[in-house]
Amino acid sequence: MRWHELKAELLSIGSCRITGLDAAGYIERSSAGPGAGGPGSLFFSSEGRRVRLSVAADSPIEILHEGEGNAILRFGLTEVIGLLEKPALHCPRQAYITVTGRCIFSCKYCPVPLNHGRAKSPDEIADMIESVADRIDALSLTSGVLDSVEGEESRVIEVLRRIGSQTVPIGVSIYPGPKTPEKLFSEGVLEVKFNLEAATPALFQEMCPGLSWDEILRSLDQSVALFGEGRVFSNVILGLGETDEEMDACIRLLTERGVIPVIRPLTPAAHLSSFSRPVPSRLLKISTMHAHALKDSGLDTRKARTMCTLCTGCDIVPGRDYK
Ligand code: SF4
Repeated sequence: MRWHELKAELLSIGSCRITGLDAAGYIERSSAGPGAGGPGSLFFSSEGRRVRLSVAADSPIEILHEGEGNAILRFGLTEVIGLLEKPALHCPRQAYITVTGRCIFSCKYCPVPLNHGRAKSPDEIADMIESVADRIDALSLTSGVLDSVEGEESRVIEVLRRIGSQTVPIGVSIYPGPKTPEKLFSEGVLEVKFNLEAATPALFQEMCPGLSWDEILRSLDQSVALFGEGRVFSNVILGLGETDEEMDACIRLLTERGVIPVIRPLTPAAHLSSFSRPVPSRLLKISTMHAHALKDSGLDTRKARTMCTLCTGCDIVPGRDYK
């Protein structure tokens, strides 16, 4: 089985059980991304390709830790030799920091509004970055919304001013206001990710009450004009009820304007706990559509320097997981 085919199986299950030696030092507990606030997850990599799985004692995927990060992943008849990677902050080789761990909005798939997290101060974030400075290739910031979209934008800009120029590239993913792209650009941010989240405006309205699909699309257009094609990203969740055709159209809506889509398999959580993860065949089918759309627009995921397209843990990334 080729890596991306195996990864489709792994992401469709989403979890693993750990056997062998103690792997506690490799387990990460996040306040953002799939599984936020859950029992923790780990990163398994093989030949430079990576997958993130949550930890669950009853998972059919076994990761046998042999010590010092050396591990064997077993699934059915498949065995893959690889490594457990220690996250820096949130994921390996990045300080990926959630500025505000709570949110006034209530997108149905998202556990953050239920987490009652807090806003970290700029000083605290600067200290966090300092603590991992020798083992990161990128600095990425994301955030919930503490009080208002504009308030959160100001908070993130305050953080950027506090940390100043960095030796690694900076990526930012927040809910954008009308001036967010130009403000982030003038603070020296290299890449942005504004998430369309749902494949159609109707699904978005249902999933993210109070937020605007069209405004996100406008921010993406403004961002491509500033940051350049291939430096702008957008998560779209696969498994919210969209058809394959709708997902294909959404992928092309993004790629044709120079935006790299991040196709994120749904982790059923929050109000969507009864939903299912996409099955492997669908993950692979959509991934093929994604690969074609990227190629047709001349976009290359291998050039990403920050955030999820660099990490690849939660998604199949054409160009990085397979050619
Ligand atoms: S792909 Fe994105 S959300 Fe997933 S672990 Fe990596 S950085 Fe976090």
